[in-house]
Amino acid sequence: MTSRRKKIYEGKAKILYEGPEPGTLIQYFKDDATAFNGEKKAQLEGKGVINNRISEYIMTRLAGIGVQNHFIKRMNLREQLIKEVEIIPLEVVCRNIAAGSLSKRFGIEEGQPLPRSIIEFYLKDDKLNDPMVSEEHITAFNWAQTQEIDDMMAATLRVNDYLCGMFAAVGITLVDFKVEFGRLYEGDFSRVILADEISPDSCRLWDSTTNEKMDKDRFRRDLGGVIESYTEVARRLGIMKEMPTVIQGGIH
Ligand code: UDP
Repeated sequence: MTSRRKKIYEGKAKILYEGPEPGTLIQYFKDDATAFNGEKKAQLEGKGVINNRISEYIMTRLAGIGVQNHFIKRMNLREQLIKEVEIIPLEVVCRNIAAGSLSKRFGIEEGQPLPRSIIEFYLKDDKLNDPMVSEEHITAFNWAQTQEIDDMMAATLRVNDYLCGMFAAVGITLVDFKVEFGRLYEGDFSRVILADEISPDSCRLWDSTTNEKMDKDRFRRDLGGVIESYTEVARRLGIMKEMPTVIQGGIH
């Protein structure tokens, strides 16, 4: 099915195809898992299906509170119809609890709550290993305008507040997450909206009682049970009740 469509872009975990009408694209979720800038690779059967559903769920709920995003509708197990945007080449990370690169960079123990939510920007550039950048770099090199930075920060904080509550309600702590934004053009004007995906691949999610990791760190750190954890996240959110059969059936 998908092979007949024109491929627009292939990333590490997703493929973008031409959409059925101008201004739309189809986002296809692969089972490929990568970490450490592509150095570590694996196929995790069913991951694409779960992330498609979790991202659909989260984007739909965010649209419901007025956080505009690229999601239009889910088409099938692995594909969703999205609005075509011009991706801003930045990864916007929001952190509530120290973990990962922040812990390493500043020598703060993982699990330490941060005094307040912190937003960081990284340049999306695999060749440079996604370096952290400041607002000065972003505006000087024209990756985004000051107004766009303000809009991205405001939207990211709203996403953080909403998702912290949504996950807390199902016994999950939102440690940190990464989002991406794109420009949606309307005539001469453009508006920054949320794009890409929000899933256990792009969030750190810890069980609130046991602190067990339920996210991509299970893959990065060889903890095993990656798919089981992603499925558990979906189950707690009340989606994907049929998931175990999908995995066993090996639907691609
Ligand atoms: N993240 C991501 N894509 C990246 C880098 C980070 O989705 O290319 C997410 C990551 O899953 C975590 C958050 O952003 O939820 C912060 O990641 P960190 O900077 O600690 O990076 P890492 O530990 O992966 O090096």
